[in-house]
Amino acid sequence: MAKHEFAYSGLVNCGHCGCALVAERKKGKYVYYHCTGNKGKCSEPYTREEVLEECFGDLLKGLVFDDEVMDWVSEALHQSNAVEKRFRDEGIARLQAEHSKIQNRLDKLYEDRLDGFIEPAFFERKAQEWRQAQKRLMDQKNEHQNANDNYVDDGVRLLELARKAYFLFKKQNPSEKRRLLDFVCSNSTWKHGTLTATFRQPFDLLAVTNTAWQNEKAAGATSGDLRPIWLRR
Ligand SMILES: [Zn+2]
Repeated sequence: MAKHEFAYSGLVNCGHCGCALVAERKKGKYVYYHCTGNKGKCSEPYTREEVLEECFGDLLKGLVFDDEVMDWVSEALHQSNAVEKRFRDEGIARLQAEHSKIQNRLDKLYEDRLDGFIEPAFFERKAQEWRQAQKRLMDQKNEHQNANDNYVDDGVRLLELARKAYFLFKKQNPSEKRRLLDFVCSNSTWKHGTLTATFRQPFDLLAVTNTAWQNEKAAGATSGDLRPIWLRR
């Protein structure tokens, strides 16, 4: 038996007592979920797996946004990246300047060493200290540069994943379903036959923006109205 044959076992807590919801196969066929009842008898009735599946599907539908939202959020991502990039570029320039300053000192130190103004031991000690300082500066600079390259790509990948999540979920096997849900949401609880879950960042922001946008679009708004929706969050 696969480790996660049941997609939602242990993923959802009972809304009455906080115990985990666990799966059980009945008549070798139907899968039911129920509260472990570890804190005493629990009033929540058994629930068919299909019902939970439907609820999680509905939750993920909240992330299925149209091209207008996709375009707008990508644009916002690029803009905020442009601002970040400016800060980073300034940071990189500062680190580079610091590096050059140390290099000048090192060159001067070397000349002093050649001219016999300083002792070899002093030269070695100082040179090593400054080279280490230079290495630290270069490490920081590389970090800035890598962050710069990944920011927009990562964001767009997350957006693509979010809008596909529902469709992926529908065709995935139990362990994949579980992994997807774990990635996208947390704190799932089940009470009176209703699922409550919290989207993790940044899916939470996407979901509220999407819902607000769908409502406003139904009321006749155009994509130019997306900005105030986004900024309100
Ligand atoms: Zn319970």
